[in-house]
Parts: sequence; structure tokens; C-alpha cells
Amino acid sequence: MTSKELKALGIEVENLGTSTGSKWFSKGGLIASYSPTNGKLIAKVQSSTKKEYEKVMQEAEKAKLEWRDIPAPKRGEIVRQLGEKLREVKPLLGKLVSYEMGKSYQEGMGEVQEMIDICDFAVGLSRQLYGNTIHSERPGHRMYDQYHPLGIVGIITAFNFPVAVWAWNAALALVCGDVVVWKASEKTPLCAVACQKIIADILKANKLPEGISSIVTGDKGVGEWISSDERIPLVSATGSTRMGKIVATTVAQRLGKSLLELGGNNAIIVTPSADLKMTIIGAVFGAVGTAGQRCTSTRRLIIHESIYDKVKKSLVDAYKQIKIGDPLDIKHHMGPLIDTDAVDMYLNALEKIKEEGGKLLTKGEVLQGKGYESGCYVTPVIAEVENHYEIVQHETFAPILYLIKYKGELEEAIALQNGVKQGLSSAIMTNSVRESELFLSQNGSDCGIANVNIGTSGAEIGGAFGGEKETGGGRESGSDAWKVYMRRQTNTINYTTNLPLAQGIKFDL
Ligand code: NAD
Repeated sequence: MTSKELKALGIEVENLGTSTGSKWFSKGGLIASYSPTNGKLIAKVQSSTKKEYEKVMQEAEKAKLEWRDIPAPKRGEIVRQLGEKLREVKPLLGKLVSYEMGKSYQEGMGEVQEMIDICDFAVGLSRQLYGNTIHSERPGHRMYDQYHPLGIVGIITAFNFPVAVWAWNAALALVCGDVVVWKASEKTPLCAVACQKIIADILKANKLPEGISSIVTGDKGVGEWISSDERIPLVSATGSTRMGKIVATTVAQRLGKSLLELGGNNAIIVTPSADLKMTIIGAVFGAVGTAGQRCTSTRRLIIHESIYDKVKKSLVDAYKQIKIGDPLDIKHHMGPLIDTDAVDMYLNALEKIKEEGGKLLTKGEVLQGKGYESGCYVTPVIAEVENHYEIVQHETFAPILYLIKYKGELEEAIALQNGVKQGLSSAIMTNSVRESELFLSQNGSDCGIANVNIGTSGAEIGGAFGGEKETGGGRESGSDAWKVYMRRQTNTINYTTNLPLAQGIKFDL
């Protein structure tokens, strides 16, 4: 990516990393952002000091009073403008996502498209923040519930979706009348700077308080300021289960609300009636897309023994076709891992698989030579394992696909699929309506996402997104996920001259 292209997104060689709207300030240490695509330094960003964080919070506190008084459809108009601007910058911002994070250019563009889609969704939602009307048991009384803004929403995000997760949260929070303070991953700070510049211009052009959207930059310490801050009623945190447990505990100690989107360990069940062509495409894309660094990446294939060998052979053949290299070159299917720490985790996982008795069906190695100078390119691995292996129970954020055999009925496969601590995404490949319905029933998948005849990876913004168990239980994006960004109030109005009490209680004076 050229410096001219970076400049068009407002990225300089050195950038300030703290901002409320278009006011930028930072005195913290510099974070260098290297591209995993070629190992080159892209630019640096100054992290936030505690004093600067305080300034951001003061601006957010002021802005929330003004923003919540603006009618929701008018707030929707600001989000509409954000969506319009994102349409304009999609190719460039998509390129930055690809260059800084390492996913393919197509996926980078797809991520920006998700931002646009959630803005469109939020605009419509801004006229549909519905509550219920309720029939009162008392004569001459009316009841209803309504939703009010919460105030300030803290957003902590992971490296692998460096722009979309912010938009999923911010677009909904903004139409709900909240202001947002975002701490992005320290591995992708430039994406955050670019997004903040886009929304800051819109706030300024509309003469709105700058504190409606802010960013702070830094590592987990900055995240801890957010999770322990009593001024922030809702913390939406996306990342590892390890991080989620700490954030959840900190927020719970002050009785705040947290929305957690954590790790997955997603499986596809492949039944005897599965369409094998669809299965192979779904499994390979799910396992190697984004180099296995999606929360919804396919980690496990649970295959019926009658078709196991056929599926195994087709997969190994398909893996031979995978082209690995610069993700900005569209002929490559798979780009690099985010950094060399991630490469070490991948190598350790391969060792553990072998130690526990698993068998690698494709060679796992770090690629070297021309085009692989960053040291972050690895080969995707297929391994035959058993579900109970410690390493299989664990989410390894890398392109490693586990093959697990089931012998009997679908119930056995469902037990294996549910037999992990995580509960994000799941899928079944079947042409049997009985199997499909069982998988989707209360006795089926225990995940937040359960698909039939599509893979585990990726999701549309129209549905609520999130998972159960150690995935954290939060829901973002579509359906009624907006309710978590608001506080519910139940109202009872008496339009008589009597004061009847509920449950028929008499209290005569
Ligand atoms: P990570 O947990 O290392 O970091 C995520 C964010 O949390 C970063 O901004 C980090 O600085 C911050 N953080 C870390 N420790 C913290 C603490 N104690 N207090 C406050 N903030 C803290 O995760 P990562 O490596 O960036 O991302 C990969 C993980 O994210 C995977 O587990 C993946 O499954 C998960 N993920 C989940 C979803 C989902 O929707 N369920 C989406 C994307 C990624």
C-alpha cells in the first residue's frame, strides 16, 4: 500500500492515537504497526495516557447529554452519512484492512461491506426502537415499556476484524442514543485511526459534539481503564476467552453490563447424505479463509465413518490447490498470520497434536523465501484427531482443521460437536430433513449460530451474532441485539381519580 493511499485515509508516518471527534492528542509511547504481508513498517501510532483517557471521557460525558436529546431518526441520518462515506472509501479502507491485518483484499472489502450493511440496518432501526404496550390489571390504567439510551458504550476489539466489529457496535449504539469510546487491538491501530477520521468529519460537518465518537489506543492496560470505569454502563468486548473472563469479572464487580464476543471452536457435522462438493468448499473456505483467524473459522469436521475416507481424500486434494502469498494479490487464497507470535502458537499446536496421538495429513511449516519475508506465512494443516484431545478442546487461531470420525447416529456427532467449552458457530451438511431439524432443535447444536448446508464461517448482519458458553453469551448486529445498548423502562399511567393497588391490595386511610 503506498503512502499516498495511506494519506488518503488520513494515515501519516506518525499518528496521534487519542481522539474525541476531530480533536487529536497523544503523549503515550509509540506503537509500530508492521504489515504481516511483507514485514514492513506501515506507520506508528501514539498510545493514550491516563490523562488523555480522562479527557476523552469528559468529552464523552458532555456529548452524551446532547446526543440523547436528538430524535432517534435524526441520529439515524448521521449513521446514514457514515454508510455513504464508507461506500466511497471501501476500496481504500478494504486495502488497509488487508495490508495491516493480512486477510485477503476480497475479505478486506467484504469487511467494509459489513460496515456499510450495519449502517443501513441501523438507519432503519432508528425508526423502530419499539417497546410493548401492556394491558394493566387495574381499571383506567395503561402500561408500556420503552427504551432509553444507556450513555457511554466502551468498545474493545480484536485484531482479526479491525473495522467491522467497531461498526457493528457503533452503528447500533449511535442510533440508540449512546456515544462510543473505542479501544482497538494494538495489532491494528491504523485501521482505528482511519475509521475515527471518517466519522469525525461527519460529526464536524453536522456541527455535532465531537465526543460522540472517540478512540483511545494502547494495550490491555487501556482496555482495563474502560472495563473498570463506572461512567461506562456497557462494555462490548471482542477477543479471546481469556480476555473476556477478566473483562466480565471487572465489569461485574461494579455491576455494569458486558457484551462478550469471545473465542469459538466451530464444527461442521458431515452426515452420510451430505452433498460432498458443497461440504468441501464450505470446509476449506471455513478453515483457511483469513488464514484460520476468524472467530467462526471451521476448526473441526465431524464426519460419518461411511464417507470419512472419501471426504479426507477430497480435502487433502483440495489443500494441494491452495495458493499462499500476498493477500493483496487476488490469485492467492490464503495470506499470513497476524504476527510471529501467532506463528509460534501454530507450531506449538502442531507439536501438541502429535504428542497427543494425532496424525498430520498435510505438512505444517513456516514458508520462507521470496514473498514470505515477514515470517508470518504458514501452510494450512489437516489433522486426524480425537475430540477429547486437550489441543482440540482449545481454540488455536490458525489454519488447522481437525478430522473426527463418528460411527453411529447423528446424536453421537451432536454430542461431539457440543463437547467443547466454546459455543459460537456450528453447521450440518445433510439432505435429510430429520437430521437437519434434530440439529436445530433443543437437543441439537448448543451454539449461538447453527447452519444447515453452509459452513460455520461468516455471518450476515441481519441476524444476531454471538455464542454461548465460553464464547461469552453476547449478541451483536441484527435482529433485536440493539436492546443491549439501551435501558428498558416500564411505565404505568393512571388516568382515573382512584388509586387502586396492584394484586387487589386494600390500603384505606
Ligand atoms: P485478545 O483477547 O488478545 O485481544 C482483544 C482485545 O482485548 C484487544 O484490544 C486487547 O488489547 C484487549 N485486551 C486484552 N486483555 C485485556 C484485559 N485484561 N482487559 C481489557 N482489554 C483487554 O484477542 P485477539 O488476539 O485480538 O483476537 C482473537 C480472539 O478474538 C480469538 O479468540 C477470536 O475467536 C476472538 N474473536 C471473537 C469474535 C466473536 O465475535 N465471537 C470476533 C472476533 C474475534
